[in-house]
Amino acid sequence: MPWHAVVLLVVAGLAGVASARVGSPPAFDVVVLGDAGGLAEDDLTAFLLFPAGSDIGIALDAGTLHAGIRVALAKGAFASLPLDPSGDVSAEGQVLQKHVAAYLITHPHLDHVAGLVLSSTDDTPKPIHGLPPTLDVLRDHVFNWKVWPNFTNEGVSPVLSRYALMPLASGVAHDVPGTSLRVTAFPLSHGGTGSSASTSTAFLVESDGQSLLYLGDTGPDAIEGQGRLRALWTAVAPLVRAKTLRAIFLEASYPSDHPDEKLYGHLTPRWVNAELGVLASLVDGDDPSSALRDLPVVITHVKRTLARGEAPRARIARELREANPYGVRFVLATQGEKLEL
Ligand SMILES: [Zn+2]
Ligand SMILES: [Zn+2]
Repeated sequence: MPWHAVVLLVVAGLAGVASARVGSPPAFDVVVLGDAGGLAEDDLTAFLLFPAGSDIGIALDAGTLHAGIRVALAKGAFASLPLDPSGDVSAEGQVLQKHVAAYLITHPHLDHVAGLVLSSTDDTPKPIHGLPPTLDVLRDHVFNWKVWPNFTNEGVSPVLSRYALMPLASGVAHDVPGTSLRVTAFPLSHGGTGSSASTSTAFLVESDGQSLLYLGDTGPDAIEGQGRLRALWTAVAPLVRAKTLRAIFLEASYPSDHPDEKLYGHLTPRWVNAELGVLASLVDGDDPSSALRDLPVVITHVKRTLARGEAPRARIARELREANPYGVRFVLATQGEKLEL
């Protein structure tokens, strides 16, 4: 084991920092602002991603912002940011206003946008990137002066233009202004048919030749029937082969015994492994069982429950420990933690 791997392991043990790929310097720092997929309004899906060494990042979803920044500050996850303890603005405010360059939103469900909406009154101008269906819903059904003032630059007058809606074309790399990042959006299927169907999004984020793949809510291809995950896996398989894909963020909303007919466009640990199997076969058809070995897979969006008994998080963590056919490094996202990937 090289010396810096030893250092990273020690750091991981002492500070609660999850260092996923020991032996190579991290390419991305990700701070978990919210890890749950519903119910806990102070811990809904949101992540801040920084290229390693940069103090300007982007938000991947924004279910919880302010409360998540507060927890992350308390856990020391922003220790490397140059925050001014005597500034006029609180530390939470400085993180939000000065260190988040843009929002990337996977889909407009409330558990992915509530923090963005509630923080908008005190935010600084920045773009919101997303596929057109996501931005259309935010403009027409959220920032419409009925649900909330129109802080975007389109839609119902008067427009306050704090947020510029920046549509992403599927499968095309776009620069994220103000950062060294490039992002490519891929559509995902997220439940149901007709009026209950949603388009969700996977974002492939690149910096300096390294990539990270973040998926919003999605159901398995076998149930959704549109082949969108296979198309995504096909697009990223060469990056896994080249060992430049540093991590995959993937949801597991329910434990594995959750009935397929009640998934509503979500995954379970069993379905996570099934989908990773598709990716593994595309990466190395001759030896899929080793194709993803040690790849960090960060599990997001575990749904809380009001039921007593074993918490879904504990159950899902156990299931991921007990069944890991591709030898990936499962990391259960935890609010306030910093992941070095
Ligand atoms: Zn969700
Ligand atoms: Zn959703």
